[in-house]
Amino acid sequence: MEYVIPCPPQASLSVVGTESRFPIRRVFCVGRNYAAHAREMGKDPEREPPFFFTKPADAVIESPCTVPYPPLTKDLHHEMELVVAIGKGGADIPRDAVMDHIWGAAVGIDLTRRDLQAEAKKMGRPWDWGKAFDLSAPMSPIVPIQQVTSLETGRIWLAVNGEVRQDADIADMIWSVRDHVAYLSQSMTLVPGDLVMTGTPAGVAAVTPGDVMTGGVDGIGTLDVTIGPRNAV
Ligand code: MN
Repeated sequence: MEYVIPCPPQASLSVVGTESRFPIRRVFCVGRNYAAHAREMGKDPEREPPFFFTKPADAVIESPCTVPYPPLTKDLHHEMELVVAIGKGGADIPRDAVMDHIWGAAVGIDLTRRDLQAEAKKMGRPWDWGKAFDLSAPMSPIVPIQQVTSLETGRIWLAVNGEVRQDADIADMIWSVRDHVAYLSQSMTLVPGDLVMTGTPAGVAAVTPGDVMTGGVDGIGTLDVTIGPRNAV
């Protein structure tokens, strides 16, 4: 069997301590999963069910990296997040079984064209243009779950040019990893290679060309992302 055009390359991330790579299928992202961030976005963080949006697999770029300032926006925001990598698929995964499905963890930035997202919200349109653009998901290499101390507590932080802007604890999540992965699996069958970006704490703000973002989650990893010149489109 031949394809009529070359197959797209398989998106992947390296795995800490090995020569092997983790292949990426889909990237699910949880919206508003920290109360203080929900408030800064003008929302009441009552426990409404979690909601999700997605990014394409090839939006992932591995740190350290430079991401060109994307087109169409004047308000590119950082959102530092814990990322979990699904190694075993399943539907209707019970909350208590979620950890059996997680292969590893990483940290990532859910880069957001906030002005386009705000317009989409106002117009009742999808979030894709605000969230799912090229290289919108810089991430650290993946740490196998056996080497992860906790997916329930640990400092999560992001600094821009050395100034800390986001500083919280993953224990502050409204919906824990167990909660939201179980919930996600009720809507779609998760498969090996899926990533879940688990939401961002408060302190999101704009970055501009030349800014250097550093961040991490204690016990998981760190990343280092520079914003490059505006992409000509
Ligand atoms: Mn996010």
